[in-house]
Amino acid sequence: MRNHCDVLVVGAGPAGSTAARYAAEAGLDVLLIDKRKEVGLPVCCGEFNASREVLAKALPGAPGLDELFPVDPGLVQRPIRGAVAISPGGREYEFDLPGYTLNRDAFDRHLANAAVRAGAVLSLETTFRGRDGRRVITGRGTVEAGVVVAADGPLSPVCRSAGMERNTVLAPAVTCRVDGEFGDRLRLFFGNSVAPGGYAWVFPKQGCANVGLGVQGRKTPVPVLLKAFLTRMGFTGRDVQAGFVPVSGPIPETVRENVIAVGDAAGHVVASNGGGIATAMICGRLAGLAAARHLLHGDPLHAYEQAWRAAVGRELLAAARTKRMADRILGSDFLLERTMAVLGGRGMRNVIVYGGLREP
Ligand SMILES: Cc1cc2nc3c(=O)[nH]c(=O)nc-3n(C[C@H](O)[C@H](O)[C@H](O)COP(=O)(O)OP(=O)(O)OC[C@H]3O[C@@H](n4cnc5c(N)ncnc54)[C@H](O)[C@@H]3O)c2cc1C
Repeated sequence: MRNHCDVLVVGAGPAGSTAARYAAEAGLDVLLIDKRKEVGLPVCCGEFNASREVLAKALPGAPGLDELFPVDPGLVQRPIRGAVAISPGGREYEFDLPGYTLNRDAFDRHLANAAVRAGAVLSLETTFRGRDGRRVITGRGTVEAGVVVAADGPLSPVCRSAGMERNTVLAPAVTCRVDGEFGDRLRLFFGNSVAPGGYAWVFPKQGCANVGLGVQGRKTPVPVLLKAFLTRMGFTGRDVQAGFVPVSGPIPETVRENVIAVGDAAGHVVASNGGGIATAMICGRLAGLAAARHLLHGDPLHAYEQAWRAAVGRELLAAARTKRMADRILGSDFLLERTMAVLGGRGMRNVIVYGGLREP
């Protein structure tokens, strides 16, 4: 592996591959590393992405949506029309939510390939081990880098190496695949017997569904809750994977020394629904552009912090606030039932999709 680069990106998920692509397109020498053997595998995601129109409404200050979306039609598994939120007592609240499901591994590969086409060098099975100033120690040797992009997911050893405050609340989540036909609506199940502090989902794909759940403050392990949910639904699940969703909002500082944090590493997740693919890409683009402007034109690296906050900061903070408020309600099925009845479908959409910021 090379021992010098302009930008070292750690993590070839949506955030890292997008950052690598934009830095490479600007003419920089970019090395993109990932500890995995294959990009995107194993899949640990619900695999749903909202349409560009919904993203534009949810994140009105986000630049680059036309460049990043729409997604290549070949990557879409199933177009999604809307969602149904199901209360603990079984009442259904429908709302519009145009979007699509993906095969997340193919999607991640597509993004990594775009980075490589732009000139980035991808090195798999290469684990970040630590930093000593500009020198980065990996499982395959030491690399000297002008800028290091921490795109290494919610636990982010790179952020830790820079002394950045990391995500404070990590919601455990688990997902699997269930064969069958499931229509064109997402189904979200609420209630403490199903997914305490969160929700369980059935997201339709082609000939199967992504089924999973995310929780908070739970005592029962998520695989046990998933098993109970599958039994209740009469489903047989396979390819079970568990992970974490950062739901405390963005970390307070995303630039320190020559390190910039992006995606789950930076808490760039819409906490009211746990979605982070689109925000990882929006902020990944800004990270790649900021690294390029810093190294090519001497702009301060801190411009990145201002750029992503202007793009999505208000919305991510609002969604985290809404999630904290919802936590009080999610703890009681009685309150949940009442609140869902008051909100109705449109109100649920406002809370879940728009973090409480848009008029129902
Ligand atoms: C169960 C579950 C369901 C979800 N469902 C959805 C959904 O339906 N829609 C949605 O929008 N979001 C969803 N999310 C959130 C979404 O998956 C993340 O927000 C998104 O993947 C963030 O992208 P990222 O590039 O920041 O991080 P990741 O995709 O996590 O990529 C990080 C990469 O860093 C690599 N890495 C980690 N440590 C190291 C190291 N030390 N050295 C080298 N490489 C390293 C990892 O291998 C990984 O490839 C879900 C999350 C979970 C856990």
